[in-house]
Amino acid sequence: MLISEIVAEENDFVALRRQLHSRPELGYEEHETSDLVARLLGDWGYTVHRGLGGTGVVGTLTAGTGTRRIGIRADMDALPILEETGLAYASAVPGKMHACGHDGHTVMLLAAARHLARSRSFDGTIHLIFQPAEEGLAGARRMMDEGLFRLFPCDAVFAVHNWPNRPVGDFLFRPGVLMSAADNVTITIEGKGGHGAHPEMAVDPIVAGASTVMALQTIVSRNIDPQEPAVITVGAFQSGQASNVIPGAATLRLSVRSFAEAVHDQLQDRITAVARLQAESYGCTATVDYRRIYPALVNTPEETAFAHALAVELVGADRARIVARSTPGSEDFAFMLQEKPGCYFLLGAGDGPMLHHARFDFNDAILTRGASFWVHLAERYLAKAA
Ligand SMILES: [Zn+2]
Ligand SMILES: [Zn+2]
Repeated sequence: MLISEIVAEENDFVALRRQLHSRPELGYEEHETSDLVARLLGDWGYTVHRGLGGTGVVGTLTAGTGTRRIGIRADMDALPILEETGLAYASAVPGKMHACGHDGHTVMLLAAARHLARSRSFDGTIHLIFQPAEEGLAGARRMMDEGLFRLFPCDAVFAVHNWPNRPVGDFLFRPGVLMSAADNVTITIEGKGGHGAHPEMAVDPIVAGASTVMALQTIVSRNIDPQEPAVITVGAFQSGQASNVIPGAATLRLSVRSFAEAVHDQLQDRITAVARLQAESYGCTATVDYRRIYPALVNTPEETAFAHALAVELVGADRARIVARSTPGSEDFAFMLQEKPGCYFLLGAGDGPMLHHARFDFNDAILTRGASFWVHLAERYLAKAA
């Protein structure tokens, strides 16, 4: 499984990963990171394309005469979190942090890129896609809107995420839905402000809002098929400042997750109706700003079976498994999988804080495993026809 040339360079790539970790950049601001990625790919002989999605980078390498084309994606962005790891290479930028391990994803793919450029042990074309803004800003969608697959046609696309609290180096696959769709909803309830002692002269948006929060709880329990997972969380309820003043408006902010497309549509319809009609029943009005952020991530069966079978061959069936359950997280690689066949899988990173935690750090122990797997996957996908 592990490729000896990659293992021999492990220290260099760990140092590079820690360098990226200390210089986190938020979505669409990955200037230093994309400069570095583009420079290294160029040095190693890749044709480098910049500017898709602003800071996106695509490195292309062709070998042999094969016509197949594979796309492998890494994400480069960090999160607006104040790092609390206390590590020597902790973020040098207060309030920004690589808390999702995208520093590790980037370097895993670079380590694979280095090896593939040297070995050229494949027959076809490799497109290495370094995308900006995975964390909620849909950098993948933007690269696609700006022509990603027109400029760099791919027969299949693959991506990985490091996954804490799974054994180090375990590969986890799931054909079909792996991650949920994510929507953000803002409900603005307008009433009429007034004196707290004279509710009869006001229209209270807080009471309407409180009732709306409770009514929203009935959508999953009373409207959605019990066999289908769905989540509605009211994460923010903002209104008012003083005990004796009835405010003029209230705002609710919701995070909504679903897996099946029909459920996705149903949630949007019901949330919109419940918010409007609840507000109306209290004499208020509600406007609903419903934003679909990411679709559900759906792996295609054939490409998932291909990647899984390869992992079984490399690390054994007990370490390359099909997981039974999907996860309520979301991921904008889902957009790429709407257009291209492919597989997104998880790589166990061992015990430690969960993704997006202020004490999270990418586990460097999986760097050479992830990089070696990318090389094997590209070589096998682009194997010369016998
Ligand atoms: Zn994340
Ligand atoms: Zn992530």
